[in-house]
Order: sequence, then structure tokens, then C-alpha cells
Amino acid sequence: MNPQTPLYFDLIIIGAGPAGAAAAMTARKNALSVALIDKAEFPRDKLCGGLITGRARAAYQQIFDENINPDLFEARHRIGFFMNGEALGPQQEMPDAHLTMRYDMDHSLLAFARTAGAHAFTGQRIEALDLKARKIMLKSRQILGFTALIGADGVNSMVAKEVHGRAFNPAKIGFALEIEAPATAPVDENSALRIDFDAAAWGYGWHFPKHRGNMIGICGLQASNPDMKPRLAAYLQRLGTGEEVPVKGHFLPFGDFRQKPGRDNILLAGDAAGLVDPVTGEGIAYALQSGQMAAMAVYRAISGGNPGAACGHYVKALAPIHRSIRLARFIRPVIHARHLQPFFKKSFAGSRRLKQEYLRMLSGEIEYPRLIWLFAARLPRAIWRHFRAVE
Ligand SMILES: Cc1cc2nc3c(=O)[nH]c(=O)nc-3n(C[C@H](O)[C@H](O)[C@H](O)COP(=O)(O)OP(=O)(O)OC[C@H]3O[C@@H](n4cnc5c(N)ncnc54)[C@H](O)[C@@H]3O)c2cc1C
Repeated sequence: MNPQTPLYFDLIIIGAGPAGAAAAMTARKNALSVALIDKAEFPRDKLCGGLITGRARAAYQQIFDENINPDLFEARHRIGFFMNGEALGPQQEMPDAHLTMRYDMDHSLLAFARTAGAHAFTGQRIEALDLKARKIMLKSRQILGFTALIGADGVNSMVAKEVHGRAFNPAKIGFALEIEAPATAPVDENSALRIDFDAAAWGYGWHFPKHRGNMIGICGLQASNPDMKPRLAAYLQRLGTGEEVPVKGHFLPFGDFRQKPGRDNILLAGDAAGLVDPVTGEGIAYALQSGQMAAMAVYRAISGGNPGAACGHYVKALAPIHRSIRLARFIRPVIHARHLQPFFKKSFAGSRRLKQEYLRMLSGEIEYPRLIWLFAARLPRAIWRHFRAVE
């Protein structure tokens, strides 16, 4: 490594998205010295629908001590669910939902972390990462030393590659395509969000109208969607917009989280740890929560005089998130397995309560067990009705 004098930090975080910024903020609140590195200059784009659920809002407010700023977060109150182009009942009231542009949101999160005292190194690729020597060399040749490291560097995480040999399992990863179509009509709080459960196999499509434009995309398990581009084209045709707009793609974890994300004093948070809900595709809330948990685990380990204990503390803290993702994986076939889809469609379309509970689950008011119970109670009736109709 370069002989330049190293700068030492209690905690270095690679990646300044929601997970990294939340970790930096939490570590600063606990008086750790923090370096936050990102290869991008901010503001920077991140492919994302930008749906901020009640769960994400609560984490945001708690970690950054900030209220939702209406310049950054547009409130939305309505949502419609579709399958095969048919509405699954009337539009629903959506509790506690906002839309944001990640370009702006992530810039403001980084600013909060900086104001709290984190040293930001942006526009800095990492030339060398030596986990044993606890040193990093930046593109600028600056050497940074650390006691603990958090990899919050997204789905293609270099830290995950270093620790686990690869960033993700290609057989289980999700993939998403998204476009930003120009706004065709003025939008307001009552402009409805739209979810199409069949737009991709083992995934869904979305249409989120924002002031700046319409975010439209599809996501699903990559292995089940070799035809992702034609599927997006068909979806855009169905919506009647966006067919001329450039398409961007990005991997996203889709249920295949790491049981033990990291080792000793090296932790992974957010997408780097595989923390995205495989039913809703929501990752911002878990990125914020896991960033906070990772920083708290580092703080506990360092203040207890044993930095190597950080990963153990972290894995324990992650248990509720891991449990939710496991339950989401359990319920996923009810929505997406081909033989169960007709029953799901019938139950969901016919039950206002099921839709409301799904939305309450999305907003963080209830957790998956309640939703699973409701589906379990309705499925046998839907299956019985289906066979009566076939006879
Ligand atoms: C198309 C799409 C739509 C989505 N829509 C939603 C949605 O509406 N709502 C929702 O909750 N979730 C959504 N998600 C998921 C959500 O975007 C992610 O879960 C979330 O961004 C994860 O945050 P993160 O901080 O872990 O990683 P990221 O946001 O990916 O941030 C990682 C950061 O690390 C930096 N980085 C990467 N590698 C390096 C490196 N080697 N050195 C330095 N820096 C590095 C990157 O520049 C980036 O700034 C969507 C995902 C996709 C792909």
C-alpha cells in the first residue's frame, strides 16, 4: 500500500445509500469516528421506484431525527391492484405512503451524515481493500485504517465478494427494469399508484406517478424471467405510455438474504446483505434499519473492547428482518405459483379486507403472520368455489 500517512477511523462504511447513511448517522450519534466512502459523486441516480412506506418513514425519522420534507417526499393516498390487465377490485386508501426521487433523497441523507460529523469520501473508487490489515486505499492514494467496516455497497457489494466469495447467488437474484416516462398529466396526492402482479414472473410491475415523471418498471426473479425486456414492452403497451423511453436495469435481492452477513468486525447492510422483501420489492426500510443495527453492533463491540464481536451482535439484531423475509418467501407462492394464481386473484379481488391488510403490512402497521393467517382462511373457500365453477 501507499506509504502516505493513514487516517484512522473507528468505523469505515463503504456505500453512501440509505444503508450507509443510516449507519454513519447512528455511529456518529454514538461518538464513533466515521468515514463514509462512495464511488459516486453526489447527487447520483439510483434505479428505484422511490416508494417510501410507513415502515421506511418511521426508520428515516428515527435515525435522522427529521420529519418528512414535502419537497423531497410526495404524499400518495391511493393504489390500484391489477392482474392480467383487470383491476382487482376498486382502488384502495393507502396508509402512510410517499414517493421520492433517490437522486434527491440520497443526497440529503449524505448531507445529514456529514453534518453529524461523518467524513465523506465521495467520487472515490477503492484501489485496495485489506481486511486483515484493516486498511483501505482510495483512488486518490489516501490510505484509511479502520477498527470495523460496514459494506453498504449495494447488491454488487465488493465487501460481500471479499468476505463471502461472491456478492449474490445468480440462481436466486432478482432483476428489475425501469423507465422514467415524462409526466403526461399533473399529479397530486390522489394520483393512484398501480401494481400489476402478473407483469413479471415471481415479481410484479409498478406505475408510480411523480411530479417529475412516471416511474414504471417490472421486477422478478431473474431465473424465471429470461424475457424481461419483452415483458416490460408488453407492460408499457398495456399502460399506453413510455414505449420510447430508454430502459435501465439493476439487480435486486429477492428473498435470498445472508444468514450471517459478514464476519467478526466486517458487516454487510442493506442490499449487500440481501435485505429486500421478496413480495413487495421494498428495500429502503430494511436498508435504513440494517444500517442502524450494524452501526449499533459496531458501537457495542468497540465499547466492550472486542470489535470482533460486532457480527455476532448484528446477526441477533437482524432476526426480526430475517424472519419477515422468510415469511414473505413462504407466502410468495400464493401470489405467484401458476396453479395458485386464480385463487389469489379471486380472493384478493373479492376482499377489501385482504387488500387493506396487505397495505397495512406494507406500511409497517402489521407483520406477515397476520396476512398469512388471512390468506390461509380464504384460500380453501376460493379453491372450493373454483372447482364448483369448473364442474
Ligand atoms: C428498479 C428498482 C426499483 C426499486 N423500487 C423500490 C421502491 O420503490 N421502494 C423501496 O423501498 N425499494 C425499492 N427498491 C430497492 C431499493 O432500491 C434498495 O433496496 C435500496 O437502494 C438499498 O439501499 P442500500 O443503501 O443497501 O444500497 P444502494 O442504494 O444501492 O447504495 C449503495 C451505494 O454504494 C455505492 N457503491 C457501490 N459499490 C461501491 C464501491 N465499490 N465503492 C464505493 N461505493 C460503492 C453506490 O454508488 C451506492 O451509492 C428498488 C430497486 C430497484 C432495482
